Amino acid sequence: METFADGFGRRFRYLRVSVTEVCNFRCVYCLPNGYQKSGPRSFMTPLEIERLGRVFSARGVRKFRLTGGEPTVRRDLAEIIGRLSDLSNVDKVALTTNGWNLARNIATWADAGLTHLNVSVDSLEPAVFAKITGHDRLAAVLEGVDRALTLGLAGVKLNAVLQRDSVGTGFDRFAEYVRERPVAVRFIELMRTGDNAGFFQDQHVPGERLVTWLTARGWTPKARAGDDGPAIEYVHPDHRGRLGLIAPYAPGFCDGCNRLRVTAAGKLRLCLFGQDGVDLRDLLQNGDSAALEARIESALALKPRGHRLAEDRFGDTRNLAQLGG
Ligand code: SAM
Ligand code: SF4
Ligand code: SF4
Repeated sequence: METFADGFGRRFRYLRVSVTEVCNFRCVYCLPNGYQKSGPRSFMTPLEIERLGRVFSARGVRKFRLTGGEPTVRRDLAEIIGRLSDLSNVDKVALTTNGWNLARNIATWADAGLTHLNVSVDSLEPAVFAKITGHDRLAAVLEGVDRALTLGLAGVKLNAVLQRDSVGTGFDRFAEYVRERPVAVRFIELMRTGDNAGFFQDQHVPGERLVTWLTARGWTPKARAGDDGPAIEYVHPDHRGRLGLIAPYAPGFCDGCNRLRVTAAGKLRLCLFGQDGVDLRDLLQNGDSAALEARIESALALKPRGHRLAEDRFGDTRNLAQLGG
């Protein structure tokens, strides 16, 4: 069967599945007041996620990423990982987490079939980390990362949102962190959402600031493989790990878009900065996979070419916790 594709000929082999909108952190650029429940909530069950995964994997998706909100607040996370990893043709099951309970649970998740892990760590300074996330937990998060490294997962990465305050000393610390650790730290340029206008104005810096810093210190861009995502990673002979950049404001960022998202409530979201989404929930609940496939297929024809952040348009995205960033 053919891989899902959109009207611009882009093929989709990667699906991000949000498993919850709930989060226990209060990152200043995302949920500065913490997660606020708005109305009754009902997130996809493990069985619904498996049904979703079955249809997507039959149409060429090889990699699933579980995200949120904070996916690890779900007690059935290991079951969800296991159901996706058991699907035929699936070779990667990844997780993006803030790392609060990583040290305790990573072995269980790895046993269930987790292959790749991204942990969000915006600063390696405990006080700055606490200020950004609302939780004084940096040491526990880093302990979890080190535990993951000992388990031999295929990929362990750190995500750091690029903020004006991290330029300089913040970069030095991450470079030191990857001197002996075989970890990629990827800085993500801060994106404007409905809720973060003030913070964005104060803290957004273009990705070139990092590139200038790296180049001046002898870091060079790594050759890219065909299935690489949007990150450009840099290597240095004195460092085992890598530093990288994801720059959504760079021209052409969306040209190679290879990702689709499904929200925790079961809506197919065609673009991170789009509007609403196509509701799949009824079909996930009744298990009609032929109808599910047909609905996804016809929705894909409507996928936009790219975001319009440069025009300060970010769709109805209030924050990334709402959709899974
Ligand atoms: N709670 C998990 C975490 O923080 O890793 C998963 C969900 S979170 C929305 C996914 C990623 O989006 C995190 O790395 C986070 O730092 C990033 N993020 C959230 N809001 C962002 C924004 N406005 N601009 C850039 N990255 C953002
Ligand atoms: Fe929660 Fe992740 Fe958003 Fe931070 S970035 S508030 S951890 S969802
Ligand atoms: Fe794809 Fe939209 Fe992200 Fe661009 S902003 S890479 S089109 S999901």
